[in-house]
Amino acid sequence: MATPDTQRLEVHVFGAGEGESIIVQTPGGEWGVVDCFASSLTDPTTNAAYQFLERQGVEEIQFLCMTHPHRDHFRGMSQLLDRFKIRSFWRPAVLSGKRLEWLLESVRRDATKSGADKFLKDSEELFRIFSLVKEKKQTTGKPAIPRHAATGMQLLPSGSGAGNVEIWALAPSGRQIERYEDELSACFDADNRFVRAAANSSHNIASMALLIVFGETRIVLGGDVERSGWQDVLSEFDANQLSCHLVKVSHHGSTNGYSEGLWDCFSRERTPIAVITPYHRHRLPRKDALEHISQFSRVFTPCVDALRASEIPHEVSDVSLKSWLALRHRLKIRSHYIVPTFATIGFRSHLAPRTPRSTLKAVSMAIQRDRKRVIRRSAAIAFGQRDV
Ligand SMILES: [Zn+2]
Repeated sequence: MATPDTQRLEVHVFGAGEGESIIVQTPGGEWGVVDCFASSLTDPTTNAAYQFLERQGVEEIQFLCMTHPHRDHFRGMSQLLDRFKIRSFWRPAVLSGKRLEWLLESVRRDATKSGADKFLKDSEELFRIFSLVKEKKQTTGKPAIPRHAATGMQLLPSGSGAGNVEIWALAPSGRQIERYEDELSACFDADNRFVRAAANSSHNIASMALLIVFGETRIVLGGDVERSGWQDVLSEFDANQLSCHLVKVSHHGSTNGYSEGLWDCFSRERTPIAVITPYHRHRLPRKDALEHISQFSRVFTPCVDALRASEIPHEVSDVSLKSWLALRHRLKIRSHYIVPTFATIGFRSHLAPRTPRSTLKAVSMAIQRDRKRVIRRSAAIAFGQRDV
């Protein structure tokens, strides 16, 4: 495995038109995975996160995070739990005890009712993930530390083996947790008999969003948080705390994936990079959302083909493609097939005293200063991802 660069945080966003996975390598050389997607539950070669980590020679994952229980965010996570040692498993605070049982039962009943093999397999996968998390706890001696995330919670303390990186939960808020609890409890009557399944769309209510802080560099991973979730974030954090360099856009660029004023906060000090993972089947991102987001950011996607196929006006599509080309040019990435399959962005943080203006300069300079290393790394991980 390559020696970690103590001054660089890496974020890799995967998403090939369905599902997403984000891999974080901390400056201490530790690894984190936020969400996961494998098109085949029996074939880990369809799991981008799994493949990437294997190629890097990783044995241990510092944290594995399921932002929320939707198939495009958890499918294939059992493959990671089977293969790697997981030190900490993060989930929204609502997914434990009775509420977790309600969820698993609701998803199972819904899948059985639909009779569709795909949904049955997904429901088994969700059950298996939570079973494996428990199993690891019982058998490895070193238990996977459970973290039940809610707004304001620090999930990764700085000064740990992760170097100078902190990770905080921006969402879900207490209000969203209560909404989701109501949704799950309505699936059962007073005698705990199943009444109806939770609406599939309701699982986004519980979605986590993360804030990664690395010196002056701030990164928001938005999960699938929807409008009312972001309203809560805006009421609990001030704009300076949300000003950032990179945003993994929430809910695949849907029109309910942001709220009024959110992108003003994200872009308060600089124009951030926005990474959108398209969801082809649901025709995401949407034109209105992309127009809105691109007013405040430079939009990138790991999957240009899916972006092109979604409902996007020609001129916006051109902007996104141009921004991709600009990034490729800046990083001198030569391999064509890097573009449609994943975005990889390396930041060298600037650990100087808080001076927002110079930070902006430092980050953009850092990418250039670090250019050669970023190129090599990008090329090294561009292994046959076209098939994923
Ligand atoms: Zn999603």
